[in-house]
Amino acid sequence: MPELPEVEALRRRVEEGALNRTIERVDLGNDTSHIDLPGPDDRGRLEGTQFTEARRHGKYLFAGSKSGPWLALHMGMAGSVRVYDAADGNPDYARLIVAFEGERRLAFRDPRKFGWAKVVETPEDEIAAHDLGPDALDLDRDTFISRLSGGRGAVKSALLDQSRIAGIGNLWADETLYQTGIAPDVKLPELADGQIADLHRAAIRILRTVCDTDATYSELPDAWLIHRRETGRACSRCDGKIESKKVGGRTSYYCPDHQGGGG
Ligand SMILES: [Zn+2]
Repeated sequence: MPELPEVEALRRRVEEGALNRTIERVDLGNDTSHIDLPGPDDRGRLEGTQFTEARRHGKYLFAGSKSGPWLALHMGMAGSVRVYDAADGNPDYARLIVAFEGERRLAFRDPRKFGWAKVVETPEDEIAAHDLGPDALDLDRDTFISRLSGGRGAVKSALLDQSRIAGIGNLWADETLYQTGIAPDVKLPELADGQIADLHRAAIRILRTVCDTDATYSELPDAWLIHRRETGRACSRCDGKIESKKVGGRTSYYCPDHQGGGG
């Protein structure tokens, strides 16, 4: 599932290839049943406008201009965007296609249809409507500690809770816990402030590093969990072996030997 760094890579694609071009029309793509896409009126509202900015908040992507409206996209399990020229043909699984004057096109692709697209007035309204917390990369240490404190649930569930902090999903929550040495099911009240500060440092470093590679996992350090998300694989930090368990309904990969409890 695309998380903050994956969506940031998509945002850059839009920024590099789809800004400051007049939108001629917005069409539905192929096989658009069972996916939320803007209707003809909303698609029409984008015609004649330009995207002058591409923004991201957590896992949400927005393209629009100061005066609006904005195209809001959520990638669901496997969504993405593609910027291309008409001569190249539409990509597979294109559900929505923005045609700019001339050849340039922007497609929202979603093979699994868990994502959605809509036309909104402002990104801020949409962020509020989904009750999203601040973007993970905008958080200083003290804000991170206060957003992650409170409640009795597991630390992994809190990291995934988009109303606390927006942008961290299953993959990068597991990586953050692995690199911090905290087990995914440790309860929040058991964590020392120092451990939450460690989580903050690790989360920011990990998210920035992944963003720097445009979410190209093969370029990430060999020692990361991302390269060993499989039961029985050797841990890179100790002599342990990777195990998996469900925490908050999500499969977590972790090393029981070096990932422990609260401090
Ligand atoms: Zn280990």
